[in-house]
Amino acid sequence: MVRVRFAPSPTGFLHVGGARTALFNYLFAKNQNGVFVLRIEDTDLERSTKESERSLLRTMKWLGLDWDEGPDVGGPKGPYRQSERLDIYRRMAYALVEKDKAYEAYVLPEELEAIRGKMLENKESPHYSYEIISQYDTPERRQEFARKGWSPVVYFKMPQKEYVLNDRIKGRVAFKEGTIGDFVIFRSTGVPIYNFAVVVDDALMEITHVIRGDDHLSNTLRQLALYEAYQMPLPEFAHVSMILGPDGSRLSKRHGATAVENFREMGYLPSSLLNYLALLGWSHAQDNEICALEEMIRTFSLERVSSNPAIFDAEKLRWVNGMYIRQLTPEAMLENAVPFITEAGFMGPENVDANKKWLLEAMKAIQNEIHQLDEIPGQLSPFFTDPIPTTETLRSLEDDGLSPAFKLLYERFDTINAWEITDIVSTIKAVVKETKTNPKSFYHMLRVVLTARDTGPELVYIVHLLGRNKVLNRLGRLGV
Ligand code: GLU
Repeated sequence: MVRVRFAPSPTGFLHVGGARTALFNYLFAKNQNGVFVLRIEDTDLERSTKESERSLLRTMKWLGLDWDEGPDVGGPKGPYRQSERLDIYRRMAYALVEKDKAYEAYVLPEELEAIRGKMLENKESPHYSYEIISQYDTPERRQEFARKGWSPVVYFKMPQKEYVLNDRIKGRVAFKEGTIGDFVIFRSTGVPIYNFAVVVDDALMEITHVIRGDDHLSNTLRQLALYEAYQMPLPEFAHVSMILGPDGSRLSKRHGATAVENFREMGYLPSSLLNYLALLGWSHAQDNEICALEEMIRTFSLERVSSNPAIFDAEKLRWVNGMYIRQLTPEAMLENAVPFITEAGFMGPENVDANKKWLLEAMKAIQNEIHQLDEIPGQLSPFFTDPIPTTETLRSLEDDGLSPAFKLLYERFDTINAWEITDIVSTIKAVVKETKTNPKSFYHMLRVVLTARDTGPELVYIVHLLGRNKVLNRLGRLGV
């Protein structure tokens, strides 16, 4: 049974890179009928916050990346929060001490610094070893620790040999002998070091595939050695390349929005974000750019994940979002739009139902015009505000000889019985014909007169949605 995990540290918002890692794990799990585990790696007590954990879970849920086991839903291999597993880490650390594969260290920080300084001075690699550190493990030092209530840290005895990783994405990665020395696995505070906790958790949670960012590739050396020490089976590793900004440096805030939360606020749909993120590194066999989640699950494979870094292209993401917006039914579009409409102050949530018919038509009218849902207020504002065209606009009405057409349009709109799309279309057409007006400039000017803008939804929708009173009012003040 395939078991994968996403293991974020709750130290901030979920970033697009993290979301992509979560997505690849999710897709792989679903494709393999496996289990997707969410584990919260909150052992960095200073930087981890509950608020950040809540926001991570909320964002994952919003994206639809549901997990089978995790801190909120539980599961057979819990707990799923590292801060609740401290006893397990202690037990596992001392299991290595018992086997002589790890040792307690009674060295003081300033002594370590001095050792390190000397090694650097002698142009040696600053690697600690049992031989060096055990010199400080004297009965006096132990007594001193006991007296002061200090606990020793636990060091892992790093075997001096070459380690080889056969990564599912990177291929063969060799870590030369002597790359690192002994390292701390368990702090005196009772908190484990990341590289140790991650191995204990992945092993005990029976994770079969570790799919994560390649910023963790170098950590894998320590992790391989730990698996070996426990004689526990290795999971498969798949290190996904980083996401870069357009300038080729690692994607960061400097490049604009990177938190998924920001994209939600801007009106990105979870489906389009997932689609775009999947394509940052993975490619569909037919190179389909628009690929719904179901299809991604069906076709996902680690073989099609590229080992090259992917460049984050915000414009492309925007385009993908536009494609997804166009695919929404008016009802779904409205559901997504309501927060933006109410936020803009156009109407309260309690008025949405009463105005549903109008709103659904408005959704149809603007659906093709936008790429982000936060453009909705701008598109709808001519209906909720009273935009007044500039005097130049009005002057060009005269200059272009459009006044007679506008005068006639006012009269016809004032008197037609029904206010249906078809009536509006035929009225406008008749006016253009009868007054022998250039249709293009007339339509353009009508749009400007009604909305004070050059662009926007189709004109006939604007007229229909504004309603007769507002249209007459806006035409009336032209004084033609
Ligand atoms: N907590 C680590 C991180 O957020 C996860 C590392 C891993 O997946 O092994 O980067």
